[in-house]
Amino acid sequence: MNKYLLLLPLFLVISSNLFSQPLVDAHVHYNDSNRDIYSPEQIISIFEKNNISQAFVTAMPAQNAATLYQTDADRIIPFLGVYKQPQDKQNWHQDTSLPDYIEKQLEDGPWRGIGELHIFAKDRHSPVLHRLIQLAAQHKLPLLMHSDPAVIDTIYETEPGVTVIWAHAGAYPYPDLLDDYLQRYPELYVDVSVRNDRIAPNGQLADKWYNLFIQHPERFLVGVDTYSTQRWGNYHAEAALLRQWLKQLPSDVADRLAYRNAERLLTHQDRSK
Ligand SMILES: [Zn+2]
Repeated sequence: MNKYLLLLPLFLVISSNLFSQPLVDAHVHYNDSNRDIYSPEQIISIFEKNNISQAFVTAMPAQNAATLYQTDADRIIPFLGVYKQPQDKQNWHQDTSLPDYIEKQLEDGPWRGIGELHIFAKDRHSPVLHRLIQLAAQHKLPLLMHSDPAVIDTIYETEPGVTVIWAHAGAYPYPDLLDDYLQRYPELYVDVSVRNDRIAPNGQLADKWYNLFIQHPERFLVGVDTYSTQRWGNYHAEAALLRQWLKQLPSDVADRLAYRNAERLLTHQDRSK
């Protein structure tokens, strides 16, 4: 056999790894509006085609995430969505019946996290938020927070050991600010979903973000954030955008952001149970 033919399998392995690095998508929504268009089986097929090894999924109603989990229990990491209707996004922190409902859900359901919770700094002293922080700590579950920086401070004043995933690199996604928060709070993870334009304008990874990822390689998660049904239609293109800037990082750092950090976050949960 020609010596080049002998090398062919090796080449195929290397090239398929380059193009099919697994991703853990840490920010997925599967609301009723999405489910009307995409069945659970179709969602799993989208993940398979895009080499999404695992996905953190939240939903309104919450049950949709549990249904997806039942469809593919190895791949789906269900987060307990606390909104029953769209307006709850604004006023959940005033609903004093919520903590008891969440507590009951955590006892019975397959939940591996709580959120996504949207909240502004002015509402951070809400007793409902306070109770949810305590429940997350007690059950050793991460909180997925879409919030101002001051909310993160309040969470860590309440429960220093709780794991927080800060959605979309926070409300003010500036590398200097994130560096400061990551240094102060060792259990804080940052999900960079929907921030491709800042992180990699025109597909080129910006120096400030490159340096931030190198400084804190273990603290970032990636995600598409399927906040609308249209995002599900564009899923392939969105995942490709993430891979486009990930490959500009050193490969060990890229692997951490792509899937290892998410796996570590989940293992940490399992160990501490
Ligand atoms: Zn979201």
